[in-house]
Amino acid sequence: MPLDIVILGPPGAGKGTQGKLIAADAGIPHVNTGDMFRAECAAGTELGERVRSILDDGDLVPDELTIEVVRARLGQDDTADGFVLDGFPRTLAQAEALDRVLVEIDRGELCVVLDFQIPDEAAVQRLLGRAGVEGRSDDTLDRIQHRLDVYHEKSEPLVEYYRARGILVGIHADRTVEEVFAEVQQVLAAAQQTRS
Ligand code: AMP
Repeated sequence: MPLDIVILGPPGAGKGTQGKLIAADAGIPHVNTGDMFRAECAAGTELGERVRSILDDGDLVPDELTIEVVRARLGQDDTADGFVLDGFPRTLAQAEALDRVLVEIDRGELCVVLDFQIPDEAAVQRLLGRAGVEGRSDDTLDRIQHRLDVYHEKSEPLVEYYRARGILVGIHADRTVEEVFAEVQQVLAAAQQTRS
């Protein structure tokens, strides 16, 4: 059965880092909408030009655009054994669209939704630390605060959406990369066992 994983959590929770590790370990693609949008911006495509100022401001790209990007990506052949979806869904409309895309690509329920939990203050400190290293235009203190507000308002309700379906597992993300990955591996092993 395909290993279809979604990672939820605020900016700074380590979704990208863990998403890459999980994907490399399982041999499945890491699908990160933030990275995809940044690549479009860097390449100067029409989509990139449309979303650039939205990313800079730390707002959400409109659902229709984001859903189309994800639909096209998940429809590619390399997702046959599963995917790690990171940064999507971020709104209820996106979560509902993902359910439809899963049907379109002949999949059943997601294997697991990992909810990365970290206090806001810890997320802010991590993102400020990253700002110097990665130079992301949205890693300034006011943008970080805004992105956290957007997360709490628009994305946090998804925790209940997936909890109600019985596929949500909370992860204590305020620890080292190694500690978090060890917990994630245990959770994935248990989830796969339950399904097989
Ligand atoms: P991230 O790298 O996940 O922090 O995403 C960076 C930025 O990309 C976000 O602040 C949004 O502007 C945009 N973005 C990424 N994923 C989504 C999404 N699922 N829905 C809307 N906007 C998104």
